[in-house]
Amino acid sequence: MFAGILPATAGAQDVRPERTCHADADVGETWAEVDARPERWRCDNGGWSLSADAVLLRFELGQAESRVLPQSVVTHTGNFERIDVGVVEANGKARWFSSWPGDVHHLATGPYMVVPVPGVTSDTRAVVVRVVRPWSKTTLSEMRLDPFPEGTGWPLQRIVAMAAICGMLLVPLLINTAFYSVLPERYVIWHLVMVASMLVQAAFATGFFHVMIGFHASWEWQASNLAFSTMAGAALMFAATFIEADALSPRLRRLATRTGPAVWAVGIVCCIPVEAVRPWSAPAMHVSIGAVIIVLAAMLWDARRRGSESVRLQIVAWTPIMAIGSWRIVAYLVPALRPTEAIELYQLALALEVLVTALGIVSRFVAVRQERDRATAWALELEGVADRDPLTGLRNRRTIEKRFEILFERGFRTMAVIDLDHFKLVNDTHGHSTGDIVLRAAAGALIDDRDTKAIRMGGEEFLLMLRGADAAARAERCRRAITTRITAEVPGLEHIVTASMGLVEHDTRGNLHIDFASLYARCDQLLYEAKRLGRNRTMREKVTGFEPAGREVA
Ligand code: GH3
Ligand code: MG
Ligand code: MG
Repeated sequence: MFAGILPATAGAQDVRPERTCHADADVGETWAEVDARPERWRCDNGGWSLSADAVLLRFELGQAESRVLPQSVVTHTGNFERIDVGVVEANGKARWFSSWPGDVHHLATGPYMVVPVPGVTSDTRAVVVRVVRPWSKTTLSEMRLDPFPEGTGWPLQRIVAMAAICGMLLVPLLINTAFYSVLPERYVIWHLVMVASMLVQAAFATGFFHVMIGFHASWEWQASNLAFSTMAGAALMFAATFIEADALSPRLRRLATRTGPAVWAVGIVCCIPVEAVRPWSAPAMHVSIGAVIIVLAAMLWDARRRGSESVRLQIVAWTPIMAIGSWRIVAYLVPALRPTEAIELYQLALALEVLVTALGIVSRFVAVRQERDRATAWALELEGVADRDPLTGLRNRRTIEKRFEILFERGFRTMAVIDLDHFKLVNDTHGHSTGDIVLRAAAGALIDDRDTKAIRMGGEEFLLMLRGADAAARAERCRRAITTRITAEVPGLEHIVTASMGLVEHDTRGNLHIDFASLYARCDQLLYEAKRLGRNRTMREKVTGFEPAGREVA
């Protein structure tokens, strides 16, 4: 790409006039009248002005044997009223041909338009071009003679480079479109508007647009201007919405969101094709873009000062394009300088800007996700804390009340309520802290896996929800394990700690509906039975449900 944007070296085939001079003229003035006044001519590539009705350019061909004769005039695309081309012969007489915006030929290999120069011979001394009411200085300053009637545009390597740059603009367009669905933020929309208008503008600025359709010169200039101001305004709106809320002074943000629409308004006004607007159109566009650059630079500086995270990439993205933009503006507005569009560098900087700002959006997206993940993790953690019993680490009563229905539906249809026997005695004999250790050991004896959920209901009472064929047997093993575990883990207890259990099993068939409270109450009754019958035992009950179809068969 860099190779492609290097200035093309002059070829042997180029038309090299001995001297090129220009002069302002009124519409009524003839070429001979102006030609007779040498003091009106300026023979360097500066001092271009749009204030006169017409500008005359005189290309003096000289008399060298080896000179290449021109067959066309090629210049930067722009709007104008009429272009007259005069072929001046040795005798001083000129033959004139006029072209209007509708009949100039546009190249698709560079932002150029071509006006034919017929009948140049070795007797021709000069080619004179009169541009009536030009809208842009570059139409004058970039005018050159071309040896071919159809004109020459960029060399192939530059065309390829520019096409690649335009292609780079497509990437963020796709990224943004994809991102908006997951990150519906206004700055994604503004970036999308910015990139889309850049693409339109690039299509005009490179002339590639003419590969597809021929466009009337004045429409082209309007469309290109509108795309340009849309892009500049959207850039401001993007920065105003993208920079974090606390990293930009509210006044600057307000200034940006007002300058954006103002730039669009200037763009629209500059496209009104009336003579009063013409001399001001291009300078006003340049000034409005200058304002965008200043506001944007102030925003980046302010955000950096306030320690914005996201602004670093933005600075990298915007610096080259702002530098080139400023150079273009200065070169245009200062009369002594030669106006330039620096198209190749400018497009490259644009593509870079777009890619890097798109990266900024991607990294913002990643940051937003990380933040959300952290928030989710924190919420889960909080929930975990709230749902767990701090002493034993088991789930607490709240959890089972909340999740009972889901568990029951998923096949957890056996409930067992386990209560330590004479636990008060442990507390009374060994103290409350030993009591806690015993409770922890009891909790450790309870299985908690895919098919068994263990809950501490409060005090020395535990609850198991189980599923699977051997649910009752597993619950029974847990009850017995409590005693073994406590004996092993809490030495020095005066007596063995046992547990009693009340268990209700449901036949897994059938569309059973039962609520937590009644099942729990039933288990509690069975537990009470077990206590009454002497403790350290289980009382169980099996509830069998029938399918309606099964009942019919029965
Ligand atoms: P039973 O065999 O009839 O269940 O008799 P029990 O002594 O186990 O039952 P009771 O309900 O009379 O006593 C339970 C005791 O458990 C009373 C209370 O001080 C004690 N307790 C409740 N929660 C905790 C706790 O978190 N830590 C300790 N160390 N003791 C607790
Ligand atoms: Mg007890
Ligand atoms: Mg109890």
